[in-house]
Amino acid sequence: MKIFKFGGASCNSVERIKKLPSIINKFSHEQIVMIISAMGKTTNALEQVVSYYYKENIEEALKHFNFIKQQHNETTKSLLIKNFDKCNTKLTEYFKTIEQFIDTKPTREFDYYYDQIVSIGELLSTCIISFYLNEVAIENKLLDVRNILKTDNNFRDANINWDKTKNNISSVQLHPSLTITQGFIGSTNYNESTTLGREGSDYTAAIFANLLNAESLTIWKDVDGVMNADPKLFSDAQLINELSFNEVIEMSYYGAQVIHPKTIKPLQNKSIPLIVKSFLDINLQGTIISAKPVNNLPPIIVIKENQALIQLHTKDFSFVGEEAVAALYKIFSELKIKPNLIQTGAISIQICLDYWEDKIHQLTELSANLFNVKIATGLQLLTIRHYTDEIKNKLLQGKNVILTQQTKETIQALYLI
Ligand code: ASP
Ligand code: MG
Repeated sequence: MKIFKFGGASCNSVERIKKLPSIINKFSHEQIVMIISAMGKTTNALEQVVSYYYKENIEEALKHFNFIKQQHNETTKSLLIKNFDKCNTKLTEYFKTIEQFIDTKPTREFDYYYDQIVSIGELLSTCIISFYLNEVAIENKLLDVRNILKTDNNFRDANINWDKTKNNISSVQLHPSLTITQGFIGSTNYNESTTLGREGSDYTAAIFANLLNAESLTIWKDVDGVMNADPKLFSDAQLINELSFNEVIEMSYYGAQVIHPKTIKPLQNKSIPLIVKSFLDINLQGTIISAKPVNNLPPIIVIKENQALIQLHTKDFSFVGEEAVAALYKIFSELKIKPNLIQTGAISIQICLDYWEDKIHQLTELSANLFNVKIATGLQLLTIRHYTDEIKNKLLQGKNVILTQQTKETIQALYLI
């Protein structure tokens, strides 16, 4: 069995959805479980709906929601004839669920409503695609993943209940050739919808691969595979044919947006290879990620924009001791802050992190009784894995570098832009 994951970009237009049959037909002799995200930018649009709803700006919430409805209705009209009515009835049910929420005053926390409303994006896309494939004679079975993937009620970043999910998967009857279900969403024991964090469909696909002991997971994308740098920033970015799980974990740690960081562990635990492949040209090989160590990698470049540097100095020039460091890490954990770089000196600690205004403000306040705090903003953080002197000098030439950190494998440099 193979698991396929199709992201928002693979179904963001009628034209792209129409590419799916030729891909699936290539694998007609295999059993496929297909995990699909919401179409295009639907999740962002639904996020807007929730924000307006929670601010009790019903008019704007409905305006944004109607736009989403219209987009999905148009897609359905362009794709379906025979199955149009059936699909339309189902979509209308989903729309109604949202409208009923919008009709009632919010009484619970924001994250709860976020999940109830945002989760519909995946339900809409899978419904349309399942009916469409059926219409072009690709038999398939659509499952509501919320009956399978069980989570706690940590809305917006729900944790998987592995035991329950495993039980559910083993009792579900999969289609002999194609089963379709939603990425990114799940549900609590009370059947309230939950989401797994933005871009979480990759993770869903990895969970299915793990629990079904799949032979591989293929993530179909609109790029040729994993590149050594962002091709939008580096015109000479190159495709990497093969990577190890460990390398991908390192790359995501430093901020490379290859795949959702939680995706690797379920695959690594069962040595299930991950293939990142283009749906635009399926003859390209893509990138294969597996447990096998890979040597001689090209320099891998990650740039994180919009960084802040917090400089903490001990108040009385005393050494930075374990207590101060422990207190600081406790603050990170309370504020759910993940620093991108930390450097500890004799009487100071420097922390580079994404510029999130309110978190930085809270961090400043909470550490002010231990340290004098200085903040610099408008910075960029460059990370190069497998660096050479040549690439390091080239990328840092003329940069106003204020902090660097270097190991044998990795160099990081923070500079003003
Ligand atoms: N639709 C969700 C998002 O845009 C999940 C995903 O795409 O993986 O974040
Ligand atoms: Mg996506």
